Amino acid sequence: MFEFMRAESNPLPAQQGVPRGLAVGAILGAMRLQDTLPVETLPIPTPYGVGQVNAYIIASEPLTLIDAGVNTLAGENALKLGFAAKGLFVDSLDRILVTHGHPDHYGLVPLICNGSGHVKAYMGEKEIERIANTGPVWEWSRRLQEAGFPELLLKEISKLEKRVNRVHKVSQLKCRPISDGEVYEFRGFNLVAISLPGHTDGHMGFLEPDRRILFGGDTLLPHSYPNPLIEPILEPEGDSPSRRRHSLKLYLETLDLLQSLDLATVYPGHGPVIENPAETIAYMRRHHSRRLDRVCNCLTAGGVTAFDVSATLYPGAESYCRFLAVSEAVAHLDVIVEQGRAGNEIRDDGVEYFFRL
Ligand SMILES: [Zn+2]
Repeated sequence: MFEFMRAESNPLPAQQGVPRGLAVGAILGAMRLQDTLPVETLPIPTPYGVGQVNAYIIASEPLTLIDAGVNTLAGENALKLGFAAKGLFVDSLDRILVTHGHPDHYGLVPLICNGSGHVKAYMGEKEIERIANTGPVWEWSRRLQEAGFPELLLKEISKLEKRVNRVHKVSQLKCRPISDGEVYEFRGFNLVAISLPGHTDGHMGFLEPDRRILFGGDTLLPHSYPNPLIEPILEPEGDSPSRRRHSLKLYLETLDLLQSLDLATVYPGHGPVIENPAETIAYMRRHHSRRLDRVCNCLTAGGVTAFDVSATLYPGAESYCRFLAVSEAVAHLDVIVEQGRAGNEIRDDGVEYFFRL
């Protein structure tokens, strides 16, 4: 699933020399307008199980890209060819808005920024902190040990993480922070940044309030469920003993927020445009409700670990997929404890057990 290594061959040459205003003007006249919002979708291949990731060109002024695709040669070529097919140039970009700090969404940001003197990239404040701060990495591995993750698998995952950071040039990633409610102006409309925690803690969406159009990243997907990932926190919140975000609880609250926005259209991070967001939101709720019941059925009086639950839910998952499966189990177990349907304790072996009440 994780094939991050970049092939050592020549990428497409940088394209230069066409006045930006002219190119944008031409595309505004020729492209399909979605409720008068000048959006072009660029599907970019990824080496991951999720398949293609969507980058979106907002062909207005300033010329803006929402999400950037993965830093592979195939990803870079798809981005450049996608721009060229629409009479635009990557080097002409003024602004990149990143929905969240996963490599399929931010991977090409350093490369784009290195190729252009003026483009500015933005990402949620918490995402920048999470990617830049090495402290929580240790917390993250402790959280996985608590979940019952075997040491051997943990080493494998850490190696993958280091490889991701190297391939995606994380040290070169320079983003300005986005905070909730920040407004990004275009000619004739605005996009408002809204905080959508769940899939990651600092996940942002970009809302065009008049047309109720959302660029939702991985918050609402047409064909799959965004994984509520384990994320450590340095200070536990409230009376919860766990030092991790309650990702699914946050995600379910985000679904409430999305529902209240009465969205007309969602441009997702993967897959086709969602034309009936209310239906997708309801579907996500039903999925998690059923999954909560299924996880509850895995509980015993003596206690099980999140790793045990993940093995029941996804018996064949290996390597990074096992991490995703354990994240899924932990997120649901946290909600079940909060609902009063299970108890939890960290025992002498340092592992957290969940038991039927
Ligand atoms: Zn993601």
